[in-house]
Amino acid sequence: MQNRFELTQYRWVKKMLQWRGFQPVLMLFTLFFFVIAILTGFFGTPAGSHNFGIIFVWIVWWALLMIVMVPFFARLWCTICPIPAPGEWLQRRSLIRRRPGKLFTLRRRWPRKFRNIWMQNFGFLAVALFSTIILTRPSVSAWVLLGMILVAIILSILYENRIFCRYVCPVGGFIGLYSLTSTLELRVKDAQVCKDHKTKDCVTGNELGYGCPWLVFPGKLERNTYCGMCTACLTTCTQDNIAINLRPFGADLLVEKGRSLDEAFKALIMLACALLYSAVLLGPWGWVKDWANMDTLPHWAMYAVAFITINLLALPGIFWLTAAATRKLARLDIPLKKVFVDVAYSLVPMGLIGWIAFSFSFVFVNGSYALSVLSDPFGWGWDLFGTRSFPWTPVLPDMVSGLQILLLLAGLVYAIIIAYRIIRRRAATDNLAWRGTLPVAGFLSAVTFTFLRLYIG
Ligand code: SF4
Ligand code: SF4
Repeated sequence: MQNRFELTQYRWVKKMLQWRGFQPVLMLFTLFFFVIAILTGFFGTPAGSHNFGIIFVWIVWWALLMIVMVPFFARLWCTICPIPAPGEWLQRRSLIRRRPGKLFTLRRRWPRKFRNIWMQNFGFLAVALFSTIILTRPSVSAWVLLGMILVAIILSILYENRIFCRYVCPVGGFIGLYSLTSTLELRVKDAQVCKDHKTKDCVTGNELGYGCPWLVFPGKLERNTYCGMCTACLTTCTQDNIAINLRPFGADLLVEKGRSLDEAFKALIMLACALLYSAVLLGPWGWVKDWANMDTLPHWAMYAVAFITINLLALPGIFWLTAAATRKLARLDIPLKKVFVDVAYSLVPMGLIGWIAFSFSFVFVNGSYALSVLSDPFGWGWDLFGTRSFPWTPVLPDMVSGLQILLLLAGLVYAIIIAYRIIRRRAATDNLAWRGTLPVAGFLSAVTFTFLRLYIG
């Protein structure tokens, strides 16, 4: 493949990833912190800035996820995520060893109508709607984390494999979509080898390991979205045909196969939520924050209606009109719905960069709280590592706005180029493609301008 650098060509990398204990050991590590986050949420101080659960989940983890893991390592978080771990270990009745025989589940069939990411879209919206409450009240945050792990266990008992991750997890939905941009991928080296290999061990599993828990056939992988990077297929492939590659940023955004309306809506919802979070948490309107924080039930109800309307009607509606203008100007002879879905993929890098800029606002300013809660996770006066009294220290406070401006403007240019390249594949000429790009460029510029207004006033 062009522009790829295979990391698994190094023997030690391959050996490490093929080791069956690789994922379970990492999951045990993150599960330890996950349990602490839940316990501190329930039993620790209600002051969010001194509670491990709030600081480590919503500042440290979120910033690491958005700024480092998703853009550079695809679904690396899903490799180490503790949420599906207890359910998966229960299914396998083992932590590391491959047990012969079938998985321990009731083997129900996941309904066909739910084999998409609509549930993940609505799940994310539900969490986002209550986010101001979740982010500031440790006990609510703990209930959310505990709820996710319980739902994952229940689904593991009912269905085989990672149904929770593939179709339900609200976090997994956006990680998958934004992983289209990542500089890392897992792919087969030669698709023909997979075609000719009759037993398809990566799907069925063999004595070396389990079949793909994400219900993916690696031989047909062209995008990162639904590969959970569990590395099982590296272990089970008897043909040495699986590789992990470095690649250019955004390589999957131009892959047409697999594009769908649920993913297009995911891109819109993520973009709308990045704008709304920025407005509520960083904007100058204190009353909006109060409403989102449920100061009174009627206020919150009005906020909820506005939030849902913007996410599901207003922004998609404006983007539908944008796609209609693109279709007309570029003289595209394909259904409007298809144009809408196609050009929505230009919102993926824009949304990711919006979230990175948003994360900069709090990670530089409030990241120092991590040191003090590490020593005193419950806020009970412990001083485990001698850092409890580390003062609140904003990092590079004068540079944050500059970084955000640079990032958002670079993101705008990149997203416009992606929009043009998507449209160019459908338009008859270059000129028509540029004309068709104009409405999308206008939409993206308006979004960027709104972000900039919110961050720098
Ligand atoms: S999909 Fe969700 S629960 Fe599954 S591994 Fe990824 S983040 Fe964790
Ligand atoms: S394709 Fe391979 S790495 Fe990806 S989820 Fe399936 S088994 Fe795991």
